[in-house]
Amino acid sequence: MGKHPKGLPILFFTEMWERFSFYGMRAILVLYITQETIGNNPGLGWDNTAALSLYGWYTMMVYMMSVPGGYIADRWLGQKKTVFLGGILIAAGQLTLAVDNIYAFYLGLVLLVFGVGGLKPNISTMIGGLYKEGDPMRDAGFTIFYIGINIGAFGAPLIVGYIGEVYGWHLGFGLAGIGMILGLIGYMWGQRHLKEVGNFVPVKKIEGTDKSVPLTRIEKDRIIVLLISFLIVIVFWGAYEQAGGLMNIYTRDKIDRVILGWEIPTSVFQSVPALFVIIFGTIVASYWLKRQKKGKETSSIFKMAIGTIVMGTGFLMMTGATIEAETGGKAMLIWLLLSYLLQVIGELSLSPVVLSFITKLAPVKYASIMMGAYFAATALGNKLAGVVGSLAESTGEFEVFTGIFIFCVLIGLLLLAFFKKLKVLTHGAEEMYH
Ligand code: GLU
Repeated sequence: MGKHPKGLPILFFTEMWERFSFYGMRAILVLYITQETIGNNPGLGWDNTAALSLYGWYTMMVYMMSVPGGYIADRWLGQKKTVFLGGILIAAGQLTLAVDNIYAFYLGLVLLVFGVGGLKPNISTMIGGLYKEGDPMRDAGFTIFYIGINIGAFGAPLIVGYIGEVYGWHLGFGLAGIGMILGLIGYMWGQRHLKEVGNFVPVKKIEGTDKSVPLTRIEKDRIIVLLISFLIVIVFWGAYEQAGGLMNIYTRDKIDRVILGWEIPTSVFQSVPALFVIIFGTIVASYWLKRQKKGKETSSIFKMAIGTIVMGTGFLMMTGATIEAETGGKAMLIWLLLSYLLQVIGELSLSPVVLSFITKLAPVKYASIMMGAYFAATALGNKLAGVVGSLAESTGEFEVFTGIFIFCVLIGLLLLAFFKKLKVLTHGAEEMYH
């Protein structure tokens, strides 16, 4: 392994704390909204449908706002300042939620939506900016960054979830805000290692006119490949994001969670995928690196296809669980764990890979807006996940899980059939990284 830039740990910790704040708040949001308005730790007293609907809109909007977040960075502020501004809005949003008041609740959510939109896409683009064109360490850098994301995602539901449920929701939200403030302090402290990255790049002006320099054919082709891969991303997250919804409810109702006489609380399983990312992140990355060294196929599109197939196969394990639960009432825990394991192995072949891919393919002046478009695809995937998951009520879990498995495998195979053609359209953007 070669050396990574000094800016990597700075962005790693900033994003780790941002995700701690994001996933911590997410873990208690629905619980808080649906909790009765009376008792020790009162909530808003909404019904499940209203709560899930707000949750769905919220998770969609935070990612959707990455589009204006990317635009602002490309056009006015550069990524570095937009990340900072986003972080401030997130901290302000969480601290507003810490106030027990319905107007504070709505205002807090709005601040979070704008804040995550400013921070999330731009910090990802900055990772790419740390590496020179052609640097083979770039993919590994994104994997390390992705592990940071998941350290935050792993700890948050456990810590914020516990504090929120036991000591008070608003304390939980406040804690998420403190996490973001720690991230911002680290970010400011580390500015000396980020001098070269995330600065504003003005769009070149054609002499005497205000028009942008037109895109070259190569740039256009690369943008087409990125847009096609974003379609795959919608399918991918549409399946994967069942974890917080249908998989979560299924775990509560149909998975045998008793080990040595102790019933593991359902919410604990929300941390399992993140834990698997931390454990398997470098293993999957070095598997791909080994293949690359042997001269075998390792293009991003190929990895995305394999990732989608492997992740989809995870849902076959849930099919197994539904068959067992049909006869025995409950299904063994191993089905759930195997399902998450396969989903995460698939995720690791796609999610950090796409982030890196975008920074290789997008023209510099559109780097952040393309990252924003990626998160817009994530937003649609999150919304799709909610729609697909809710079908289980009418069609049955067996049908939904099996349907997801078949659809993902088919999409993966389709991508495998066309990946060589798509590779041509990248015009060698990846070959230089070998
Ligand atoms: N687990 C990822 C994160 O929280 C999902 C978001 C994405 O890349 O679409 O960063």
